[in-house]
Amino acid sequence: MIDTHCHLIDPQFTRDFNEVLKRAQRAGVTSIINAGYDVKTSTDAIAMGKQFAWLKPAIGIHPNEAAAELIKEMGSIEALLSHGFICAIGETGLDYYRDFSAREAQKALFHRHIALAKKYHLPLLIHTRRSIDDAIAILKEDNYHCGVFHCYSGTHEQAKRIIAMGYYLGFGGVLTFSKRLQEIFKKVPTDRILLETDAPFLAPEGHRGQRNEPSFIIETLTIAARILDVTPHHLEEIVDHNATTLFSL
Ligand SMILES: [Zn+2]
Repeated sequence: MIDTHCHLIDPQFTRDFNEVLKRAQRAGVTSIINAGYDVKTSTDAIAMGKQFAWLKPAIGIHPNEAAAELIKEMGSIEALLSHGFICAIGETGLDYYRDFSAREAQKALFHRHIALAKKYHLPLLIHTRRSIDDAIAILKEDNYHCGVFHCYSGTHEQAKRIIAMGYYLGFGGVLTFSKRLQEIFKKVPTDRILLETDAPFLAPEGHRGQRNEPSFIIETLTIAARILDVTPHHLEEIVDHNATTLFSL
């Protein structure tokens, strides 16, 4: 089972990092996309990937960070690509919910990430909050069609447009308790679905309010399989195949 979006570089994992990895392995997690959200955490994700080959680094600057300031650091992000085994660009995207930084600055930062993904032929890990339409418009403008809208929570109509552009949809803990999202999930073609935790955030049903961790992806898999009326084993094969294809694992 592949966890396609996780932040093991988050300080919340410092205390019991090795136990978290052990529990993930015991639960059957075989690979984790470990996404940085600034230069430091992106560097940390690479270091973790060198130590543990199954922790696949992704590098980028999250739109919640001060976009106007951090765009200057995109050169450092590009320099990290020389390590050669980066599997995605991100976490990137647009966040109009928390709105920590001006929308124009976020858009400029997103364009820079897309340019890097294009140049190095890597998929994008795209974060959106109340910003899906703008994210779609920017990806169209930049003519790039490879990546995932992670932690998807938009409408069915938006999902159709995203899929038509060649993107995947990532589903995490919210799927286990949001009836609205479950109805949308049912209608998504299975060859476009990825599963993720987004740990340490957004724990699934049964763990809500706790720190999320990769081993909890099994809860999401179980409920997702029930929604689609297939066995967890069958769904795992499908989503792992999708993840392997997108991230060239
Ligand atoms: Zn994330």
